[in-house]
Amino acid sequence: MIPTILPTYNRAPLAFVRGEGSWLTAEDGRRFLDFGAGIAVNALGHAHPALVAALAEQAGRLWHVSNLYRIPEQQRLADLLVQASFADTVFFTNSGTEAAELAIKMARRYWFAQGAPRAEILTFDGAFHGRSTGAIAAAGSEKMVKGFGPLMPGFRTLPWGDMTALEAAIGAQTCAVMIEPIQGEGGIRPLAEADLRRLRALCDESGALLILDEVQCGMGRTGRLFAHEWAGITPDIMMVAKGIGGGFPLGAVLATERAGAAMTQGSHGSTYGGNPLACAVGARVMEIITAPGFLDEVGRKAGHLRQKLEGLVAAHPAIFEAVRGQGLMLGLKCRRPPADLVRAGHEEGILTVPAADETLRLLPPLTVTGNEIDEAVARLDRAAAALAAAPAPSSV
Ligand code: PLP
Repeated sequence: MIPTILPTYNRAPLAFVRGEGSWLTAEDGRRFLDFGAGIAVNALGHAHPALVAALAEQAGRLWHVSNLYRIPEQQRLADLLVQASFADTVFFTNSGTEAAELAIKMARRYWFAQGAPRAEILTFDGAFHGRSTGAIAAAGSEKMVKGFGPLMPGFRTLPWGDMTALEAAIGAQTCAVMIEPIQGEGGIRPLAEADLRRLRALCDESGALLILDEVQCGMGRTGRLFAHEWAGITPDIMMVAKGIGGGFPLGAVLATERAGAAMTQGSHGSTYGGNPLACAVGARVMEIITAPGFLDEVGRKAGHLRQKLEGLVAAHPAIFEAVRGQGLMLGLKCRRPPADLVRAGHEEGILTVPAADETLRLLPPLTVTGNEIDEAVARLDRAAAALAAAPAPSSV
């Protein structure tokens, strides 16, 4: 077969034709419990009736207008985000990567406007901020940057969670610190709340802007609207995407008035960012996630899932090492290649996502039910047992 799609993905031999809640149906009729949710995108599951209605209603009225005009759906979503967060101002993008690009530009422009330009942005190993030339330079990993140089200069990558290294590196030359409160691709690695508070204090002392990448851990995934809320701090700039569109491509940069002040007319733009279709869906997602009780329920379900996973780890010590993460952003640190577990899960009808640091990611829809959690862990249990019985570990 002639490959007509650039082969940058290692795809599983699965194609899905229908989704409903936490379930996906494949071409051959097999049903899968979706504990990947499009990698934390389908926050409200598949085909949520309220999102289908919001999209259909908007699609029948108006698909696209340029940002040369006021877009009421965009304004509504911006207002909802500002009301529910630290932010004073929002710019909409189509993806997390585009949000990263703007976050970088905004931070540098802030210092330019101060009349004392600072370029250096501190980042952390294991980070993932997207695949643009700026975002790969920010993350700096060999796998992502190899062959794509020269890279955008100005990034300095520090060891993950190493506060001593951070204290030594941050100073009057630091433009910003850019960090995921919980690394996703890096292997569900949370930064300790105390370290996040220390990071905020170090930024305040040096003047550096704090950019939080909540593309994967935001939008209710940890049981709070945004993960940084657990630490009681606020960023200056924040990237959001994935869950905010519930499956419709949408991202955003949220900022304080001060951090965003230098982004004046003509300094940035996007043809599709803040498109009426995306924002109509995004506003509905926000209304549902911020409705009273929704996030408490996420917290309860997360506790249930975590407890079941602790049991799974105890039952399969040759396969699993530990559970980590927060809320419904959980990882199983594995003793076997996580890709093997993903494949074994496919045989049992459960979808999970591999990550770095030998971690298997579990990112179910926030609407997952208690019964679905029980069923998912039963399927993972069978997958682990099958893997344990397999002759030899394969390499990935
Ligand atoms: N930042 C984080 C933390 C992510 O997890 C991702 C995607 O996985 C991105 C940025 C990039 O987002 P996108 O793929 O929408 O461009």
